Amino acid sequence: MVEPSELSYSVGMSNTTYVAIREARGIIQDAQRIVVLTGAGMSAESGVPTFRDAQTGLWEKYSPEELATPEAMYNRPDLVWSWMLHQARVMRSVEPHDGHKVLGRWQRELVSNGGALDIVTQNIDDLHERGGSDVLAHLHGTTFTFRCFDCDAPSDYELDDPTDEQLQATPALDQLMLEDPPACPACSYGFIRPDIVMFGELLPQQAMDNALDAVRAADVAIVVGTSNIVQPAATLPLAASAAGAQVIEINPNQTPLSQDADLYISGTARNILPELHP
Ligand SMILES: [Zn+2]
Repeated sequence: MVEPSELSYSVGMSNTTYVAIREARGIIQDAQRIVVLTGAGMSAESGVPTFRDAQTGLWEKYSPEELATPEAMYNRPDLVWSWMLHQARVMRSVEPHDGHKVLGRWQRELVSNGGALDIVTQNIDDLHERGGSDVLAHLHGTTFTFRCFDCDAPSDYELDDPTDEQLQATPALDQLMLEDPPACPACSYGFIRPDIVMFGELLPQQAMDNALDAVRAADVAIVVGTSNIVQPAATLPLAASAAGAQVIEINPNQTPLSQDADLYISGTARNILPELHP
């Protein structure tokens, strides 16, 4: 049993937030199965720029919708591969925050007591993993595993840790050396691509099935840092609620979910998640 008096006001925490956190702790205290659904805000707090904010230098000329498509990769593999490498290096250069880390500890504790804390994320970075968590489902794939663009064979290609030079380079069209993607060793004519869901591609069915199983089995669903607009991820909190879970939303601003959630907490993942951990 968590006594509310243990709660300390963080700098800038409003009374409303303080009361909401107390209520959330009451909801969470007996939960054995928790599912945590995370979106772009979770990573943005670590410094991962949103797709659009990352379009600097050379990439200003393009929108993500022009680059992250199978058609673009087919037509300009050097351009799209170099852009994806740049994105991946930026993701690798930032560190998990306290919200990621507390989920790692919390997951280990619940699992060791026979419970579960399942993480379902729309993020393609590996911040949850580096924060110590196993991720049940990457709904939009992951930037750090690769497969063949043609034959789909998995690749053992590994991204090297980025150098400072690579990170600080603001690519300009005339000075950027575009790299071709490595060839696929399985079919020898295809080239490899990251396991991310590009615009116009379907979500990986297995990830979505695993996510639905997790939300239906959960006592509590915590929804963090997502706009709750992008489908089909936005259906998951509703599926959790329909199956009897209590839904807690954490986001700096209200979203279409906020009115339907059992509890809305205004704040960031980094500040709020550590307060919820029993
Ligand atoms: Zn191949």
